[in-house]
Amino acid sequence: MTDQREPSSPEDLQAALTGGVPLGRWNEGLMFEGINPTPGLKSASNWFPRSETVGPDEMRITFMGTAPFIRPGQMNTSILIELGNGEKIIFDIGEGSVANYISAGHALNELDKVFITHLHVDHYGALPYLYMFGGWAGRWHKKLRVFGPSGRSPEFGTAHMVEGMKQMLTWHRDAFSVFPVGQGHDVEVNEFDFRDNGGVIYDENGVKVIHWQRSHAKDGASGYRSNGMG
Ligand SMILES: [Zn+2]
Repeated sequence: MTDQREPSSPEDLQAALTGGVPLGRWNEGLMFEGINPTPGLKSASNWFPRSETVGPDEMRITFMGTAPFIRPGQMNTSILIELGNGEKIIFDIGEGSVANYISAGHALNELDKVFITHLHVDHYGALPYLYMFGGWAGRWHKKLRVFGPSGRSPEFGTAHMVEGMKQMLTWHRDAFSVFPVGQGHDVEVNEFDFRDNGGVIYDENGVKVIHWQRSHAKDGASGYRSNGMG
C-alpha cells in the first residue's frame, strides 16, 4: 500500500480525477485552484460513499441531517466525522439521521461516540434508537459514550437527559435483554461544565475535542472543535 502522505504523481492525479475520461480540469467540482486531491479521491466532481479512504491526516465530515423539521430527504441535525485512524465521531444525533448513516453504510454498532451540542430534541432525538439498536446490532464490547454540556442546574444537564432516556426505555431494555447484550446497555455520560470555554472533553488516540459556550436559547449550548489526527 502506498504512503498516503506522499504527493500524488501526475499519472495518479489524472487517473483519480478522470477515472479514464479525459476531463483535464482540476479546479472544478470539489477542487479549488492550488489544492491537490489526496490519493483516495476518485473524482473531483462526485463523491462516492464508502469508495474513498480517509488519509492519516485527513477527516471526512458528512452532514447526515441539518434541519429542525423532518421531512423525506431532510433529517434533524447530525454530523459525522471520520478520521484517518478509522474512528468515527458523531456531533448531534437528530431524529431521522440514522437512516442516512445506514444508507451511507455505517453499522450502528460502530457509532459509539456522540457529542451533543445542546438539548433541543432535534439534536438528540435518535439517541434512544442508537442506544438500543446499536447495542442490539452488536455493540456488545463497548459502552455508548455520550458527551454533552451541563446546564445552569443539574436537571438541565446531559446526564439528567440520559438518565431520563434510560427510564423511558425500561421496558425496551428489559425486552432486548433476551438477546446478547454485554455492555450494549451501558451508557458512559461525560457531562462537562458548559462555562469551561476551550476545555478538552475528549483526548484519545491523538484526537482531541474541545468545547465552548454558544449563544442559543439557554445556558448549556456548546460548540465543538476537533483537531482530527493533527
Ligand atoms: Zn437548538
